[in-house]
Amino acid sequence: MKTIITNSIIITMNSDMEVFPDGYVKIEGTKILETGPSCDLKETTEELRAAGWQIKDGKRGILMPGMVNTHCHLGMIPFRGLGDDCKDRLRVFLLPMEQKAMSRRMAALSSRYAICELLLSGVTSVMDMYYFEAAVAQVMDQTGIRGIAGQTLMDEGGCDASDADQSLSMAKELIETYRMHPRISGCAAPHATNTCSPQILKKAWELDTANQVPFTLHAAEMDYEMTWLAQTRGCTPVGYLDQLGVLSNQTAAAHCIHLTDRDIEILRQRGSGVCHCIGSNAKAAKGVAPVLKLLKEGVSVGLGTDGPASGNTLDLFTQMRLCAGFQKNDSHDRSAMPAKDIVSMATRQGARVLGLEEKIGSIEPGKEADLVLVETDSPNMFPVYDPYSALVYSANASNVRDVYVAGTCLVQDKKLVYEDFESIRRELSDCMGRSAFGEMQELHRL
Ligand SMILES: [Zn+2]
Repeated sequence: MKTIITNSIIITMNSDMEVFPDGYVKIEGTKILETGPSCDLKETTEELRAAGWQIKDGKRGILMPGMVNTHCHLGMIPFRGLGDDCKDRLRVFLLPMEQKAMSRRMAALSSRYAICELLLSGVTSVMDMYYFEAAVAQVMDQTGIRGIAGQTLMDEGGCDASDADQSLSMAKELIETYRMHPRISGCAAPHATNTCSPQILKKAWELDTANQVPFTLHAAEMDYEMTWLAQTRGCTPVGYLDQLGVLSNQTAAAHCIHLTDRDIEILRQRGSGVCHCIGSNAKAAKGVAPVLKLLKEGVSVGLGTDGPASGNTLDLFTQMRLCAGFQKNDSHDRSAMPAKDIVSMATRQGARVLGLEEKIGSIEPGKEADLVLVETDSPNMFPVYDPYSALVYSANASNVRDVYVAGTCLVQDKKLVYEDFESIRRELSDCMGRSAFGEMQELHRL
């Protein structure tokens, strides 16, 4: 299969940050074969057709690398909007409902729904962390997205395991199943610094490191996590993880809101990445991660939405805009956190955080063809002086027109090519209706 996308504003996100105001990209098989300004294209349209190229007119849209959502909980669609403004949402809504209603089937249906939502918004890679991850990975495979399925580990177990050791065995199997898969991998994902024993944190890190998959967990997120570690171990979460020896360039720490300068230095030295989830953090009034400092010190920071219960939407346009707003506001500097850096976090840096930078994150020959075309015809997208700025400040998920993962067009003209969203929604809704979520829906209808 050979496809050429023409007539587009191309932001390559390569090391020179090249932009082609009128450019093309050639895709052959799963990879990018060639990109450049249209004036460099040697063949005429007729010659391209004769040589078997499928020609797609970009219609002056912005063609960018597929976006990378570094932290998500795909199985949590049923929780979206539940207890949004409740002070103790976690204990009042989330944990009891998870125990009562979450099943393998619901996690799979929710993941399929969430992946469709991701694709429609231009996210082509996602790192997930939830339960029943064997089912989640299967759905990732079927839908065509690129993904890392992180099996959650908690000392007290969860809705799919009675303890962390059982979850670790499930993670082992998951990693093994997808070892040779071109798009999917599995990993052990400890829940957090305060919900897993040091032994489990170490075992998970050893497993992930030996298999060259990310080691991801929530860290420096909760007030009580900070207090507990300070009281019991006399250190910060990052300091604690470093003492355990589980920080490396395969570590992707989600949130990292509460960091000292020393923590940032440790993350830099170890080459660990941060998954910044500003939408979730701001909604829960947890604080704002020191992203400007992290970037200044050379720590890789990707963007994440967190789960639909925490950040509600799964698109990175929302996160890009919030990230810009909070960092500018916090530093009282309009020029801080420029759009170019934010788009980098949503693409190339996100890929680096997940250990996928060799494969994806930029539009360059030899890389996987994970691409997003953002149309510029809608009222909110005119005029475009600077494509980075247009993506961060003007665009939203509804402007995503076409999406490719590994050279396959999964979204065309704003519609899913292979998935029937209506039936996915109906199935999930029926499954929820037959569970404790059904009672919740009834309650909220009154
Ligand atoms: Zn999370």
